[in-house]
Parts: sequence; C-alpha cells; structure tokens
Amino acid sequence: MNKFEQLGLNESLLLAIKDLGFENPSEVQEKAIPVLLEQNTDLVALAQTGTGKTAAFGFPLIQKIDAEDRNTQALILSPTRELCLQITNEIKQYSKYVKGLHTVAVYGGASITEQARDVKRGAQIIVATPGRMQDMINRGLVNIKNINFCILDEADEMLNMGFYDDIVSILSDTPDEKNTWLFSATMPAEVARIAKKFMHDPAEVTVGTKNSGSATVSHEFYCVNARDRYEALKRLADANPDIFSVVFCRTKRDTQAVAEKLIEDGYNAAALHGDLSQAQRDGVMKSFRGRQIQMLVATDVAARGIDVDNITHVVNYQLPDEIETYNHRSGRTGRAGKLGTSIVIITKSELRKISSIERIIQQKFVEKTIPSGIEICEIQLLHLANKIKDTEVDHEIDNYLPAINEVLDGLTKEELIKKMVSVEFNRFINYYKKKRDLSGEKGGERSERSSEPREIRAGDPVRYFVNIGSRDDFDWMQLKDFLKETLDLGRDDVFKVDVKEGFSFFNTDGEHTDKVMSILNGFDMNGRRINVEISKNDGGSRERRDHNGRSGGGERRSSGGFGGRSSAPRSGGGSFGPRKEGGFRSDRSSAPREGGFRSDRNAAPRREPGSFQREERAPRRSEGNTDRPAGRSFDDAKARRPRKS
Ligand code: ADP
Ligand code: MG
Repeated sequence: MNKFEQLGLNESLLLAIKDLGFENPSEVQEKAIPVLLEQNTDLVALAQTGTGKTAAFGFPLIQKIDAEDRNTQALILSPTRELCLQITNEIKQYSKYVKGLHTVAVYGGASITEQARDVKRGAQIIVATPGRMQDMINRGLVNIKNINFCILDEADEMLNMGFYDDIVSILSDTPDEKNTWLFSATMPAEVARIAKKFMHDPAEVTVGTKNSGSATVSHEFYCVNARDRYEALKRLADANPDIFSVVFCRTKRDTQAVAEKLIEDGYNAAALHGDLSQAQRDGVMKSFRGRQIQMLVATDVAARGIDVDNITHVVNYQLPDEIETYNHRSGRTGRAGKLGTSIVIITKSELRKISSIERIIQQKFVEKTIPSGIEICEIQLLHLANKIKDTEVDHEIDNYLPAINEVLDGLTKEELIKKMVSVEFNRFINYYKKKRDLSGEKGGERSERSSEPREIRAGDPVRYFVNIGSRDDFDWMQLKDFLKETLDLGRDDVFKVDVKEGFSFFNTDGEHTDKVMSILNGFDMNGRRINVEISKNDGGSRERRDHNGRSGGGERRSSGGFGGRSSAPRSGGGSFGPRKEGGFRSDRSSAPREGGFRSDRNAAPRREPGSFQREERAPRRSEGNTDRPAGRSFDDAKARRPRKS
C-alpha cells in the first residue's frame, strides 16, 4: 500500500497522484489529510511555502465533495490571481478522474459575466480572490450559502494585502456549519483573529518551526554602496550563468526601472507588477515558466505565492519594508526539496536588518562579496568551453566545411581554440579588467584582491579551479570529501568548495598547493583527466560560517567563490557580449535570442511569441555596440503584447 493510500485517499485520487508523479506525501499532507478525511473539523495548518499545502487541502476536499450534486460546495480563497489560477489548475489535475467535478476560478481582471456563467453551469469548487468574490456576491452571481467547506489559503498573505474586511464579509455569507480550513505560512495576529472569529475548536497542524525559513534555502548578503546596487545585481547574474530568479524590488517604479535596465543590458528579464494588464502579467508568467525569462523583477504583491519550479535564486534587490515579507520572498526558491539561494543586496546603513531577519527565519546569513571580474570571466569562459563541448553538431554544417577549412588552414588546434574563445571573450575580459571593486565601505578593506596573480605564501589560502563539477555527480560536500581523500588532507583543509556544473572552485592553504597541483593534475577519475589550476582569486576571505558550518564559498548552488570587485558588463567597452550578442548563456533557461553559442538542452525557439525579447533584428556578436536593446521595456511590452495570452 503506498503512502497516499495509507492516508485514506481513494482510487481516483491515487491514480491522479500517480500521474503527477508524487511519490510520498509531504509532511503537511501526511498530517492534515487523515484529519480532514476522518473528521468534520475546522483546521489551522501552518507550513512554509513550497511544502505542498494545496494538495494537503485539495485531496481531502475532492474526496469529500459530492460530484453528483452540482451545487457549489466549497470555496477556496487565495490572495492573488496567479495563485488562484495555480490552485485551480492543481485541483483540476488532482480531480481529473472524478467524473462531474468542476472547479472554477474567480478573480479580478477577467470577465465577471463569463465567470458567473461558468459557476452557474455547476461548479462544486470555486477558487477565488477575495475582492472579486465579494463583487460576485454583491451582484448575486454566486451562492455560497450552502457550502460545506471554506479554505483560506495563504491566509497571512491575504490579510497582509488588506483583505480582512472582504474575508470577514464573505465568511459571513457562508453557513455556520461548514468547516473552515486555514492554511498559512505564518500566524500573525490578524490570522489568529480570523481563526478565533470564524473557527470552532480547530485541529492544528504545524510543520517545521513557525516562521522559520525553509531548510533548503541558504541565505546570503552582499554589502555594497547604494549607487552600486544595480551593478551588483548584474554581476551576480553574470557569476551565475544558469540563474533563474525572482528579483524583488520595493515599488512598482523600481521594479519597472530595474527590469528595463536589465533588458537594455541584454538580460532576459521582465517586470511583474500591478500596473501591468492581466494579459501582460499572464504573458510574463508564461515566458518565465517557459524560461525565456531568467530574471523576473517583481513587487511583493505581484509575485506572491508564485509557484514556479527550480528557481535558483531569489534576489532581494531591496529589502521589503516589512521584514516578515522576506520569508515569502525567499520561499519562492528551495521548493519541493530543491536547493535555492536567497540573496540580499544591502547597504551598510541597512545592515542591522540582517540580524532581524535572521531572528525571523531562524537561520544565519552568509556574508559574501560581489564576485570579481576575473572570477566572472573564469566562470563564463568555462561555461562557454563546456557549451562548445556539449553542442550537438548539425551535419548541415558539413557542406560549409571545405570553405571554412580553407580559411582556417594552418592554425593549430591550440591556436584555433584560443581564437575561438577570444571571439567571444576579448571585449568581455577587457571590460572587466578595468572594473573597480564593488564592495560597500564595510567590505572595502577586505576586498582589495588584485587581479594579478598573487605570490603564494604557505599560510595564505589558495583558490583553485578544477574541471569537475555537478555533472560528475559532485555536490559541494562530495567534492570536498573527494578532495580530502584524494589529497590525504585533514577535515578543514579543503574549504570554500563551490561546485558549478562543469567545474568547481575550492581553497586550501598555500602549504598544500604543491600537493594539490601534483596529485590532482592528470588524476584519472574513471577515465576523466582532472585538470586543476590556481585561480587568481581567493574566493572571498571574510564571510562567516553559516549554521551548517559551511563556509561561504561552499554554498550550494550559486555564486562562485566570490572574490569581490568591479562592476558589471555594460556600456563603454566590453559589452557583456554574452548576454546581448548571444554569447555565454546558460541554456537551461535559454531565452530566445539570435546567434551566439547556445547549447540547446531545452532551448526555446528563438522567436517565441510570448517572449519579451526584441525580435526585430538579429543581433550579431561582432557588433561593437554594447548596449543593444535586447528586450522590450515595459512600455514597449505594453505596445507589443505576446500574441497569445
Ligand atoms: P505551498 O502551497 O505549500 O506553497 P504547493 O502546494 O504550491 O506548496 O506545492 C509546491 C510544489 O510541490 C508544487 O509544484 C506541487 O505540485 C509539488 N508537490 C506537492 N505535493 C507533492 C508531493 N507529495 N510530492 C512531490 N511534489 C509535490
Ligand atoms: Mg500554496
């Protein structure tokens, strides 16, 4: 008997669960489902975002609904349109084998008459945002006087957003005998108030520590001067070619401005905020889910509850006004057991907020320095090399080979490689060469690492680059163990291990350098020759150890062993060829773009209708232009909406 069956779920749900590929119930599901199936009770369930709350109420709800009765039996309230659609979609998937069960989404910004018509046709479950629901009730378009179940999803968020009055009013329109299930990540006073007012002796389910951040998210902060905020953001993106992130700003205006700048600078970015039309928001979300957008710049309200898988980074471009909101932001990553990083770009004057957040999330931050230009070059170069290696050759190319060979005749393999990489990289390297340090004053004194090769002294840490990474099945811990064993080093002798896909960085003290170089270079790892080089950067020297004892450089998925210094690729010299001219992009997230070295593991079609990339011209790498407008600005996007939305 599988775990879901043990919880008491019936055959049609088990079938759907199988289709969804859920193997085991999550903790909140394990705790809530049996209670809700067996008892007619109110329930308060507290669990982090990403813990599977939708199914925790969705499964028992579906099982308890009488699909033969076409009357509305359940109302699910959720804070935003996006969430509303997401929940509706999930419920539909869960109930796909339940004949006659209909779920309708009711939210603002779409035709109310159509929604009313759908409800009239028979919707046992309504998923609604409070505002629109109230509207429908006022106009007599729905009847919730006989519902058996009311679910308040993301209750804390709904109340944060000022829906208290709407909720109270809607609930007053429902029968007393119904059961109310309240799901929330946190339990602020207002939620407790609602619970007290509308619930009778609720069962309680709590998963993890209340208010604590998800254990799968690591938290980092970067202290910069206020004027460098944007440059820091770009550099973080450059240091993480595979970044797939939500970037939070405080206001709609900043959100739009940052998105516009990123787009101008050639990143695959888009804005998501309340001033966009619903169709635009849908378009943006579609592109984001489809990974044509790597950096979604959003306000808290617009991004609330967004459930997109595999977000690698949440970036707090600015901290939220309400520190509690941080939790909701960081909960966008590290979902469904995946690892993620939540980054805060912060100025010296705001630093004290970090400890307030640490108290709330009950986790420590790791202080990092913005990666140096040299380090970014290393990361990007290797990324390119790997991409070249992984590129599948289309044999159409054979037709052109004779001509190409003629041109390149006489070059050795080594020369050819150098030249090929330089085509992409010259401007880029030149650009970063000139760039200044980006550390904030606080970090100033310790970020004076020069890009010149350093003289190695026994006591100094030395950072290495090695050509093995996650594709060789290493995570940072495994790589550390492998290195310790292979090099016969002690427990703490290998540190700041940072594993990228095709390569990694790590540190040892200078006294071990000879050993590292002699043993590791040429080491045969299952037929693969290891190559190790000394990196010109020590990977950041003063971060704190986090609560797991990981050093800052050894973080999970992100941000190269950051050194510190310099600003991002932009105008004046080295365009970040990569992003604009179609260069070094990670391609998991492959956005539509022309030309360039794309490996195409999941490449999207170059010209996606839904994409917010400028499509008018095919950018060419060889153009000297550094600030190619690679995408549309907000206004632009308004004018040129995705064709389908
Ligand atoms: P929450 O509402 O707690 O933030 P969601 O209900 O949105 O979380 O679930 C997060 C993700 O986890 C969704 O993509 C969902 O499909 C997935 N998920 C939920 N339950 C399971 C499970 N038992 N096994 C695997 N994935 C699950
Ligand atoms: Mg949810």
